[in-house]
Amino acid sequence: MEISLIKAGPDRLKKKPGDNDNLNFGDIFTDHMFVMDYKEGVGWHNARITPYGSFQIDPAAMGIHYAQEVFEGLKAYMGKNGDIYLFRPEENIKRFNASATRVCMPDVDENIFMEGMKKVVLLDREWIPKNRGTSLYIRPAMFATEPHLGVRPSKEYIFFIILSPVGNYYKEGLNPVKIYVEDKYVRAAVGGIGEAKTGGNYAASLLASEEAKGKGFTQVLWLDAAEREYVDEVGTMNMFFLINDEVLTAPLTGSVLRGITRDSVIRLCRDWGIWVSERKLSIYEILDAAKSGRLKEAFGTGTAAVISPVGQITFKNEDHIVAGGKMGEVSQRLYNELIGIQYGIKEDPYGWRVKIN
Ligand SMILES: *Cc1c(COP(=O)(O)O)cnc(C)c1O
Repeated sequence: MEISLIKAGPDRLKKKPGDNDNLNFGDIFTDHMFVMDYKEGVGWHNARITPYGSFQIDPAAMGIHYAQEVFEGLKAYMGKNGDIYLFRPEENIKRFNASATRVCMPDVDENIFMEGMKKVVLLDREWIPKNRGTSLYIRPAMFATEPHLGVRPSKEYIFFIILSPVGNYYKEGLNPVKIYVEDKYVRAAVGGIGEAKTGGNYAASLLASEEAKGKGFTQVLWLDAAEREYVDEVGTMNMFFLINDEVLTAPLTGSVLRGITRDSVIRLCRDWGIWVSERKLSIYEILDAAKSGRLKEAFGTGTAAVISPVGQITFKNEDHIVAGGKMGEVSQRLYNELIGIQYGIKEDPYGWRVKIN
């Protein structure tokens, strides 16, 4: 399939943030976007790069009513000499299609996805910020557009990719965050859609995170839906603990998102000779370890924040300080290694980095 290109005219070009401007996360967008349409019987068609702008959609579009929507999140990094890198993008594409399958949406051809993504990033390359820790966040997404009321899979979809220059995900940066162990609400149950990057999961999480923020916490730590005891994730990140010399994280049993950062962290730790276990983790086990000083570090992992150290865990009104409230050694080493690979500063023995220019 050919990708057509309509460039934004000079009057539609937006003002880019300067090197000294503070970048937030996800509130400005570049000049162009990639878009493609789907119709049952026709398949994907009309792949195009156009000026960034609104869609016109019918008020009966099924995506608005029944939440058939999936998305991804990855970043383009500006390396030395103007080299532009993506980090394991093929994994995002595979996960996007796995999410789509779970909510009865069509697959997107992996080649056209990759080609469209590279083309739009390269067209808007001037938007990739250069400062340390900044990047161009890439948001591919798809939603149902068929005008129809009645619950069944839509026969029409829009797929698109938009780009946003970003700084740190948390205003805390690499400073440890306080997390609230959620014992009232749940995010996802085994057999549900927790494993899919689909909008409904995030709608389901909002009330809990708003309440936690109101109490002064950055994020909530989700427990399993059945027993309210086993750690699932933290906010929109996978969760890791270092107890004695062992790194622990929840297994991928269906309620946890299959994080690409999670996978990379496991790989790095194992190659460094650190024992990693993917197993059910009771919150009581974690807090016992915290009380007896065996919990050395705790951190979340995700594309947006990379490694987010946890300095305090609060459960049923009891505060537990982790790693003296500071970033731990393993968390710091993982952060440095991942950032190093992503920005082309360190060797990449895994072939994770993809240079696109
Ligand atoms: C996206 C996401 C993650 C992190 O995945 P990465 O591939 O590492 O960015 C973790 N948990 C949830 C719920 C997510 O949506």
